[in-house]
Amino acid sequence: MNYKIALIPGDGIGPEIVKEAVKVLDRAGEKFGFSLDYTKLLMGGASIDVHGIPLTDETVALAKSSDAVLMGSIGGDAKTSPWYQLEPSKRPEAGLLKIRKELNLFANLRPAYLYDELKAACPLRDEIIGNGFDMMIMRELTGGLYFGERKTFEENGIKKAIDTLTYDENEIRRIAKRGFDIAMKRRKKVTSVDKANVLDSSRLWRSVVEEVAKDYPEVTLEHMLVDNCAMQLVKDPGQFDVILTENMFGDILSDEASMVTGSIGMLSSASLNETKFGLYEPSHGSAPDIAGKDIANPIATILSAAMMLRFSLDLDQAADAVEQAVKQVLKDGYRTGDIMSEGCIQVGCTKMGDLIAERI
Ligand code: NAD
Repeated sequence: MNYKIALIPGDGIGPEIVKEAVKVLDRAGEKFGFSLDYTKLLMGGASIDVHGIPLTDETVALAKSSDAVLMGSIGGDAKTSPWYQLEPSKRPEAGLLKIRKELNLFANLRPAYLYDELKAACPLRDEIIGNGFDMMIMRELTGGLYFGERKTFEENGIKKAIDTLTYDENEIRRIAKRGFDIAMKRRKKVTSVDKANVLDSSRLWRSVVEEVAKDYPEVTLEHMLVDNCAMQLVKDPGQFDVILTENMFGDILSDEASMVTGSIGMLSSASLNETKFGLYEPSHGSAPDIAGKDIANPIATILSAAMMLRFSLDLDQAADAVEQAVKQVLKDGYRTGDIMSEGCIQVGCTKMGDLIAERI
């Protein structure tokens, strides 16, 4: 099988980490009998330098015509980069918002996984970590409070601001289906997080999720209030498999979940639309402070590429192999600088990519 992949290296460490992900993908292709054709696209600062804007319509069209998009990261140092002298709509980050919107990427997935070998980086106590944790935060990305009507005004000399939190049943249904589909590929448990004791939008959320659950009898569904979920994430993170939630709750909880893993260079992410199409990128930024030094950790991008194999290309075996190779490299004691600990062997970005590719 042959697949078309749009590749957006982006800025800062983006090109270095994407190169390593491609190395690993190609190795997985050799082993599992598929091939990937890459089309390199410009976005963020790299696009501003050539086109004067962070994302062109031609780039969007090319991304749309691919099977999936693999991205590094975009943006520069806001204090020193000329990109940040431009008006906000022309800065690198505007490209990211535009591509998410144009591609209708309503489902954001952020795994939070604790590797045995990196337990020392986890800020939680050993008795809480227990046997570790492996969860997927599934956040609705294009609705809710961030996209509702808002205004700031003055009433009787008092300043007031209003934001509105709106969801319709279709928006909830499509993300819920995605959540259950993903749970079917994992440990078959969904924790739907809401604030149904207070919010109407949460009560609708809960009832639609329950309706969707009927089509997935193998999946266990539980509901949890968002305040409780924030506590449970640091009290007993091992209880979670898929956390399914709306936009703002997901924004906050996904950051909390990723923090408890302790290492930003390891965290992958995916944003999906209604088809199998998705955009895959590390959770971290473009790290301009370490760009071009061959010291960045490429693992978050490599794991994002594994998610691409699993969710957009249905190549589960190859995805498993990439994830296993990452685990094996850590077991063998190799670390990039950001996750280095005593007794391990420090390697650069390129070497880390080589070591992972060799283990597939
Ligand atoms: P950052 O994630 O780029 O860096 C934070 C710190 O983590 C830095 O010290 C950096 O060196 C380190 N770090 C990040 N990724 C690493 C890796 N793979 N290996 C080793 N160390 C790593 O966050 P920031 O400094 O706040 O932002 C830098 C730029 O990235 C900004 O322009 C920001 O807007 C952009 N950004 C882009 C995205 C994206 O493309 N989706 C996301 C977040 C930030």
